[in-house]
Amino acid sequence: TFITFEGGEGAGKTTVLKELHKKLAEKGYDVLATREPGGSHIAEKIRDIILDPEHTAMDARTEALLYAASRRQHLMEKVVPHLARGGIILCDRFVDSSLVYQGFARKIGVEAVRELNEFATGGMKPDVTLYFDIDPVQGLHRIKENKGREINRLDKESLEFHQAVRDMYLQLQEREPERIKKIDAGRSLPEVTDAAWKVLSQKIQS
Ligand code: C5P
Ligand code: MG
Repeated sequence: TFITFEGGEGAGKTTVLKELHKKLAEKGYDVLATREPGGSHIAEKIRDIILDPEHTAMDARTEALLYAASRRQHLMEKVVPHLARGGIILCDRFVDSSLVYQGFARKIGVEAVRELNEFATGGMKPDVTLYFDIDPVQGLHRIKENKGREINRLDKESLEFHQAVRDMYLQLQEREPERIKKIDAGRSLPEVTDAAWKVLSQKIQS
């Protein structure tokens, strides 16, 4: 079962992912927690290029291509083999992030980025996507409080950029409500984790 975690900055995806991973592992599931961009040696190297705060000259299409390259490598090396063994994958971000960030917020075009990612993934889709919805003002506030977080190139983006990210996520969710489950991430962490667990546990039992 292929499960992806999506949402804007400070929504708590990574933290909730770790909690759910622990929970599933304790119950004896063969579960792998991973992230994008990255998740494999080669893919993490591509991540470093993408997110380096010094890479201010990064062109939007170059960025989209690097995300797609990192995605494919991670998929082939990590995701596909684990799913083939019958395991569960919890992946921090996937194609939806690129549709939202590169396609919409960076204005390359959602359909162009979708096509690029069809090529990269061979059309592979998550079984379920947990979308953590949060008001960007609240999300960015949480990030400022989280001192341990790594600094990246996106930290300089405007509030409008982050609003655009949220708007597009909401559109994707409306288009594919069967796959994309919206979780109100403005609540406390235990509440958000509970809500995410409900969706996830239903999916792995079906
Ligand atoms: O998942 P995380 O929030 O740690 O992602 C690292 C950074 O990469 C974030 O600032 C995110 O907005 C950005 N990103 C992006 N396009 C993607 C995936 C992530 O701009 N496709
Ligand atoms: Mg994160």
